Amino acid sequence: MTDEVEQEVSTGSLPVWDQVERLAQEAHARARGHDEGVVADYIPVLAEADPSLFGVCVAEARGGPVHAVGDAAVEFSVQSISKAFVYALVCEEHGHEMVRDRVGVNNTGLSFNSVIAVELNDGHPMNPMVNAGALATTALVPGASSAERWEHVRTGLSRFAGRRLELDGVVYRSESATNTRNKAIARLLQSYGRIDLDPLEVVDVYTRQCALRVSARDLAVMGATLADGGVNPVTGERVVSGQVCRDTLAVLAATGMYERSGEWLFEIGLPAKSGVSGGIVAIAPGKGAIGTFSPRVDPAGNSVRGRLATAYLSRALGLNVFASSAQPSVQRGADASGRRA
Ligand code: GLU
Repeated sequence: MTDEVEQEVSTGSLPVWDQVERLAQEAHARARGHDEGVVADYIPVLAEADPSLFGVCVAEARGGPVHAVGDAAVEFSVQSISKAFVYALVCEEHGHEMVRDRVGVNNTGLSFNSVIAVELNDGHPMNPMVNAGALATTALVPGASSAERWEHVRTGLSRFAGRRLELDGVVYRSESATNTRNKAIARLLQSYGRIDLDPLEVVDVYTRQCALRVSARDLAVMGATLADGGVNPVTGERVVSGQVCRDTLAVLAATGMYERSGEWLFEIGLPAKSGVSGGIVAIAPGKGAIGTFSPRVDPAGNSVRGRLATAYLSRALGLNVFASSAQPSVQRGADASGRRA
């Protein structure tokens, strides 16, 4: 499974800059009238979010300015989207095999904070995008203390964003006061020998990573770094390796959109991650990424307007990774060796 092959890259390119700009505006205009969904409130402070906010941003993998529309600069807590980028940092540190074995890559089919999923799988966390797997992943972040591990996470996610990301202290305290379920999951993982550190310290670093403040623009740049083989297209800095990007995107395709991951892939065809505060990042390998923010989420936790805008852009920009059309230059009727009959 680890044999390396050259030239494993996504094909095609984005339309010209003006067209991407126009389509980003069109995506925002088409989705902004939708008021379905509700603002998440299980973390008390999230309920205060303004439901009218809506930002869309496309960042191109090849660098240059991003295409930002609406409230693309408004900051919100990254929540579960942090899981994707902490996973990438941990894969960079420990490698493909170790993280796959320890955390897993398969969908649970159950909700993101399920305890039963852990029990049904003999304590295996199953994948890094559910809370059990995210806690097991955060427990692998390098550092001699939880302060060092937190700094590694904050600095790493900031490198993906190309700017220093800050903790939202209000969100952190609100979640810390109410996250008894995550503490229970961490203790359960400890009971199965799946995390070696103090479970409550792991939950604390995880809660901080979820409370980092980002904008839709940040999400687009972070995603474009995964689309660009691990190099941030705005700063030019290498953040992770190309293999880590591939591993992370594969996991996002299978598990990034909660229990709707299959449906998302079927309709939109892009690896993506969402968070309950209303952010979504969707990544088109080799091309770029879409970051959206709008607080009303569907029953699975995915932003309604974000999904609509991303679905439109996936089609209009030709991003669906499963879509292909016959190549007009290829002559039909060639035999297996490629020779014409
Ligand atoms: N910090 C949240 C939790 O652990 C993240 C939820 C989410 O965005 O899915 O419950």
